Amino acid sequence: MMLQGCTPWPAETAARYRSDGTWRGESLGDLLRSWARRNGSATALVKGERRLSYRELDERVDRMAAGFLRQGIRPGDRVVLQLPNVPEFVIVAFALFRMGAKPVFSLASHRASEIRHLCELSGAAAYVVPGTYRGFDHVALALRMLDEVPALRQVFALDAPGGVAGVTPLAEVDAEPVEPPPADPSDVAFFLLSGGTTALPKLIPRTHDDYAYQVRTVAGICGLTSADVYLAALPVEFNFTWGCPGVIGTLASGGRVVLAEDPAPDDCFAAIERERVTFTSVVPTVAQLWLEAVEWGAADLSSLRMIQIGGARLQPELAARIEPGLGCRLQQVFGMAEGLLSMSRADDDPASVLETQGRPVSPADEVRIVDERGDDVPPGAAGELLTRGPYTLRGYYRAEEHNRRAFTADGFYRTGDVARLTSEGRLVIEGRLKDVIIRGGDKISAGEVEGHLLTHPRIARAAVVPVPDEFLGERIYAFLVSPGERPGLAELKQALHERGLAEFKLPDRVEFVTAFPLTPLGKVDKKVLAAAAMDRDAPREWAQEG
Ligand code: AMP
Repeated sequence: MMLQGCTPWPAETAARYRSDGTWRGESLGDLLRSWARRNGSATALVKGERRLSYRELDERVDRMAAGFLRQGIRPGDRVVLQLPNVPEFVIVAFALFRMGAKPVFSLASHRASEIRHLCELSGAAAYVVPGTYRGFDHVALALRMLDEVPALRQVFALDAPGGVAGVTPLAEVDAEPVEPPPADPSDVAFFLLSGGTTALPKLIPRTHDDYAYQVRTVAGICGLTSADVYLAALPVEFNFTWGCPGVIGTLASGGRVVLAEDPAPDDCFAAIERERVTFTSVVPTVAQLWLEAVEWGAADLSSLRMIQIGGARLQPELAARIEPGLGCRLQQVFGMAEGLLSMSRADDDPASVLETQGRPVSPADEVRIVDERGDDVPPGAAGELLTRGPYTLRGYYRAEEHNRRAFTADGFYRTGDVARLTSEGRLVIEGRLKDVIIRGGDKISAGEVEGHLLTHPRIARAAVVPVPDEFLGERIYAFLVSPGERPGLAELKQALHERGLAEFKLPDRVEFVTAFPLTPLGKVDKKVLAAAAMDRDAPREWAQEG
């Protein structure tokens, strides 16, 4: 049974996935136990000087799972998990899997606005924070959330200053292991966040069955073995880092996971050299930084056999520089936290690795490319990508109305991506229908930023669009209408910052106009605005009419 508020797969489809062995009825908490039995003393996790063997990881997870139960966290409770790339992220997540609570993976960069929303939407009973991280006091934020969100009962902190009332240090979430309540593999294991087409992120329920299948399939495609060493360069809470095959796939293969502080080349190159890292996953912006750093310094990246690049469009010119520059194989990855993953394969011809996003990872992935009416386009033509399959969600959590628009009646997820299929069945991502900006791999919902801008007393209208950027891929450009004195960019950024919006969502540029261009149906014409953002000298006739 899936948690209430989630949409299960239709019974016959689920039965088929079970009978053909796609879903094996394994829970992630039990899987860790079997990996620990197999690889006991091998190193599972590394962060700087700290190393944890599989056995230590499993034992710590057992004790923490019992500790959470003793602290009053119950199976089925939602727990917002906000930790940077530290071993505790993995320990807390697996402890919650094991005792049946459901972590909600928040980004470490989220602030009050996003955290309040995640706590309220998930009905979270608890919130796990680092302490002060990168100059931000997460404990203070957590205490504020305890005040503001009635359902939130508890806060756990990795580095809690001594004796703060209402905050339990994670180290105290520790008890003699108990037999955990039996996990239902068809139930939600954790929640990922949607890249956000709506004003606020939606929650993506991922079940034990579907995620175990995703990870197993992708680890197989990548040929992972116990000799592999994975560098988690991007945040662990990203689906890309966590399970494509990432952290979980490496643990499932008996390999070693190295957690980087951030994706900057100095830290990552040192870790690659020291730990003899064999593969990693980054967004195109990071890949570009790494290529530049290689040209500047003498890094030993000889242990790397593969780099996965995804999360945002990889320009073919940049793709062509990867293998010669980093000395390892490139794997293109197109994916989404909602499910569908498409990847190039080791035996793909070089041109298709540079120019396409490969093939869906599962033979059971169903992919359609449709026109505005929802009809299949002719072979090779571009259209919206729809998908369903054994690891693609059937509905966002507690989002009935949005789900009616985001899914077809027969359960296909409307990705909002524009794609075409080559004659060999490879996907090429051409663009996007959804109102999202992808800035260096971070997804920003235009509607969310617009909503915050509109709370400023001197902003009457706001329309946020992407503007191409050589380094970040896209930047955030805000068109604004202001009836009186116009606030400057710095003032607006400060106002959004004070509203608790994560830093990466702040506009890079603003432009004041007197009116917005409209489509024939009277909606703001964002295509016209996006074109105008690219050409600041072009006349803004539409702005003069209003
Ligand atoms: P997320 O769920 O945050 O991983 O975001 C998923 C979205 O990122 C997709 O729906 C695409 O819009 C975009 N995306 C991911 N990978 C690629 C890629 N290789 N090329 C272009 N866009 C991508």
